[in-house]
Amino acid sequence: MAGNWKMYKTAGQTTEFFEQFNSLVAGVTACDVVVFPTFVNIPAALAATGGTVTQIGGQNLHWAQEGAYTGEVSGEMLKAAGCNWVLVGHSERRQYFHETDAGVLKKTRAALEAGLAPIVCVGEKLEERKAGKTAQVLVEQFVGGAAGLSEEQFAKIAIAYEPVWAIGTGQTATPEIAAEAHALIRLEAGKRFGKDAAAALRILYGGSVKPENVKSLMKEEELDGALVGGASLDPRSFFKIVQAA
Ligand code: PEP
Repeated sequence: MAGNWKMYKTAGQTTEFFEQFNSLVAGVTACDVVVFPTFVNIPAALAATGGTVTQIGGQNLHWAQEGAYTGEVSGEMLKAAGCNWVLVGHSERRQYFHETDAGVLKKTRAALEAGLAPIVCVGEKLEERKAGKTAQVLVEQFVGGAAGLSEEQFAKIAIAYEPVWAIGTGQTATPEIAAEAHALIRLEAGKRFGKDAAAALRILYGGSVKPENVKSLMKEEELDGALVGGASLDPRSFFKIVQAA
């Protein structure tokens, strides 16, 4: 269960969140719990979660190990800071920062080389769903962003299915819609990496997940977890979501 904090919370607010959240999630063993704060608040998040179940990740990374890329952060830097995870290709990165599937693949490889577990995000836009292109888009994003990995690399990634029309809109995909998309991604994964690797792949659903809808989503066998934006900003609300695992 992953919380993407996007560009929210200061360092002080990060510490406050964990002051409440740590005791709520103490003893959670059923799932990984990961929070993705902004880069500058990663040290505060790590300091506040040391010795707890919560792991910390970056929201993005650059594909180079180091170099003249002003404003960027590498996988090595995230790992050295204490992160275990990183988001790659979030729809907001694709929409506002023009990230492509080829770039997503480069970043995913860089994350793995740095020893981070990448969560590769895919998902169709509303107009693509309306035009009946959901399957095509998901296959293209999977093939472009993940199918070029080696089998060994693929075993270390997770995928987040995040329909763009459901992110931050309050409009959640129904459990059936989400399960159908997950099954399609798993089928594609099976074609490239084999049935066992596809079955072992963790596919998270993201898009307006809240305490009120998480249980019905998690009942679907195809859903292995959730990537949560807005509802992960409040400790109680995110805890209720973690409990659904
Ligand atoms: C997200 O940022 O990945 C997300 C799913 O956001 P929200 O839960 O706010 O829709």
